[in-house]
Amino acid sequence: MSSPTRFVSIEKLIRPELAALGGYSAHKAPETLSGVVEVPVESIIKIDANENPYGCSPLVQQALAENGDWNKYPDAGQTMLRQQLQEYVGVDAGSIVAANGSGEVLDEILRLFLESGDEVINCVPTFDLYRFRTLINRGNLVNVPRDGNFDVDIKAVKAAITQKTKLIILANPNNPTGNLTTREDILELLETGVPLLVDEAYYEFSGETVAPLVGEYANLMVLRTFSKWAGLAGLRIGYGIVSPEIAGYLMKIKLPYNVSMAASIAVQAALKDSDYLMDRVKAIIAERERLFGELVKFDWLKPFPSRANFIFCLLSKGKAVDVQQRLQNKGILVRYFDQPPLQNGFRVSVGKPEHTDRFIQVLRELEEEING
Ligand SMILES: *Cc1c(COP(=O)(O)O)cnc(C)c1O
Repeated sequence: MSSPTRFVSIEKLIRPELAALGGYSAHKAPETLSGVVEVPVESIIKIDANENPYGCSPLVQQALAENGDWNKYPDAGQTMLRQQLQEYVGVDAGSIVAANGSGEVLDEILRLFLESGDEVINCVPTFDLYRFRTLINRGNLVNVPRDGNFDVDIKAVKAAITQKTKLIILANPNNPTGNLTTREDILELLETGVPLLVDEAYYEFSGETVAPLVGEYANLMVLRTFSKWAGLAGLRIGYGIVSPEIAGYLMKIKLPYNVSMAASIAVQAALKDSDYLMDRVKAIIAERERLFGELVKFDWLKPFPSRANFIFCLLSKGKAVDVQQRLQNKGILVRYFDQPPLQNGFRVSVGKPEHTDRFIQVLRELEEEING
């Protein structure tokens, strides 16, 4: 008997705008590059996804090995987790909502606020996830370009606000450009009364936060993550800092068991070891400055000062895709950009000192080809 599904055209059944949607381009897993690159997979230097080169805290490894009633569901109310985050963040547990990565908090916020056709203001170039999740959640994207130094054009953002604007999204520091928006500029946006989402994924590297203002501005929402500073990208744990009222709604609409027990155990252990983790953050910051000093020596590169754990570079000669390809052949992975508004550049994550050394060495080798 033939299956009835063979007569159904799935494309006619799914939402038409999703059939045409340009997806999110996640980075390549190194294991897929076996045979493609000139080095063994184990020696690939992965500086393309802003991951922590030092890994997670050893206390996390230990806690995961020792704990876990894995047959039980985790606590849907996130009671202990929110309490621990309260101590770390310094805002009340009732203002904190955790999720399976901060990207999921973003998605929940979009679901909470957006009706079909509502507008989201996005300060481009920025983290592509904002575009992607806004469109999936039936929002209209309103792109407001940043200036030549990638600073947010506050006047233009305010001018773009309409009756339909439900959210302004701001990565601070911005990804992929690494620069901060000033507190005064953020306050000016908050005064408009429009919900403002400030993504502080790199807070531990930048040291700048507006989280304490959540008590004062009901329209402020802040995103944080354990993916970068705590080296837990693979376990997926992020959180939002929002007004208690918004927190209540987010807790209501989220998937009940969205934070795994493993992720909760990892957070507890990582927070116990925060001094150790912050020492590594300091090492990454020092290495970022050394990498910047090396990059400015190339006359065909323009690196931008960064407050995160990566550096963005524009090329004045050659093509970013060629540089990326040649680096990849040598086993070094970086992220390149060749679509407007980022024409010709790459983003490199800050690795260990030996990663910087090898990366700079290969760039010097490439230099002759590029100048030739
Ligand atoms: C890496 C990153 C995140 C982290 O997302 P998770 O889902 O928590 O891993 C969020 N925002 C920005 C801008 C990032 O670069």
